[in-house]
Amino acid sequence: MPRWVLGCPECNQEFTHSEIDTEYRPTLLDAFAWIGDKPEIPDAGVSMECPNCKKVSIYFRYQLTYRAS
Ligand SMILES: [Zn+2]
Repeated sequence: MPRWVLGCPECNQEFTHSEIDTEYRPTLLDAFAWIGDKPEIPDAGVSMECPNCKKVSIYFRYQLTYRAS
């Protein structure tokens, strides 16, 4: 499933921020269409725990990366 990922600064592993529901987004074929469709993250960032190393870090919207699978 296509998803938005974040990179942990501690262990450099990517983890999923959110999955993209393709049922509501049938135009998935154009990956670049998603760039304007990033999930909202407050300007102050959001605190998330890395599922790999359990490090809690603040992430910003620009750090979201699209992954097609
Ligand atoms: Zn980590």
